[in-house]
Amino acid sequence: MSNTMTTSALMKNYQRLPLTIVKGKGSYVWDDQGVKYLDYTSGIATCSLGHVPDYVQGKLSEQLENLWHVSNLYQIPQQEALAEKLVSLSCFDQAFFCNSGAEANEAAIKLAKKYAKDQQKLERTEIVTFSNSFHGRTGYTMAATAQPKIHKGFTPLTPGFTYLPFNQPEALEQIDTDKTAGVLLELVQGEGGVHPADAEWIKALYDYCKQADILFMVDEIQTGVGRTGTLFAYEQYDIEPDAITLAKGLGSGFPIGALLAKSKAADSFSPGTHGSTFGGNPLAATAGLATLEKIADPAFLQDLQEKCTLLVEGLMKIAETNSLITGVRGKGFLIGLEVENKAGVWVEKLREKQVLVLTAGEHVVRILPPLTTEKEELFTFIGVITAIAADIEEKGE
Ligand SMILES: *Cc1c(COP(=O)(O)O)cnc(C)c1O
Repeated sequence: MSNTMTTSALMKNYQRLPLTIVKGKGSYVWDDQGVKYLDYTSGIATCSLGHVPDYVQGKLSEQLENLWHVSNLYQIPQQEALAEKLVSLSCFDQAFFCNSGAEANEAAIKLAKKYAKDQQKLERTEIVTFSNSFHGRTGYTMAATAQPKIHKGFTPLTPGFTYLPFNQPEALEQIDTDKTAGVLLELVQGEGGVHPADAEWIKALYDYCKQADILFMVDEIQTGVGRTGTLFAYEQYDIEPDAITLAKGLGSGFPIGALLAKSKAADSFSPGTHGSTFGGNPLAATAGLATLEKIADPAFLQDLQEKCTLLVEGLMKIAETNSLITGVRGKGFLIGLEVENKAGVWVEKLREKQVLVLTAGEHVVRILPPLTTEKEELFTFIGVITAIAADIEEKGE
């Protein structure tokens, strides 16, 4: 471990750990001292096929030889192919590509506003989002994020967002149908503490929006591309959203974001209404397509679901006897362990044992294994966290 640099030329907007990772392969990373770690952060749900996956690396190497970037002024076959694949695997008709999650949500918010205008519903300018959500750090998406701590220091916020209580039936009655263009929500709130949405509540909200012709948009930036055990989290709910956004897991670590929508809404993006210089360039689209080819394989998803069950059962077993653990939540490989003490203590102790996990708020340990992790690695992880749980409980840390 190297020291945090006190003379860094970087801005101080991140609280970085004193750990410098220089290499990664599969479920493991190595630091600059040669120490090997089991990486159950996956670059925050990004490196879903593990680090430097051979198949994606091969496809990217080929593409690196031929062409890196052309603008969206021209036909881009790789982008076409990725859109085609995403559409064929989902309930959506069209795709737009950008470079990050926040940008994908910006596009979704713009689309909902434009859709309302196109319907001549000129008063419909608001987007409804939900308490504890996380949608990004840009102007629109920071305002869409209903968490005061994210807003601190940045008021006045971009107007046009209404926050309603997540998972609460009364939220439906509070939607102003005259003013609302769309709702945007996560099906498992990631950054907000790993809170899954209640299936009945989602269905009622979805039906309500459908009947009022309010766009129902799901932020699948963290939950999408296999993370929750199905290709998209919405498949586990009785809904067909009008649009979803993707980013984190789509490119195996290569930056890419996407907005997928049904034609009804997507048609509102006519030429000149939205765009991105880099979005869906040949390298990004190649990374996306290769990643998707692997994850969308039914055998891959089947195997994944078995491993997800294994992890949850292992954690439940620890929770049964450990007084500090108050809950095991989440879906698939997006798991939160709610603890009574500080989650940071668990992250630190695990790191000492060469296992990397993260937090989601003060009292939730967030566990995001690569989807490719082996059963043996899961057993190792469960073994390590069992020992640490006992140690923390005993010492009262
Ligand atoms: C990470 C995340 C974002 C923001 O993505 P960036 O690529 O950091 O802009 C938005 N929504 C959700 C649910 C996320 O997890």
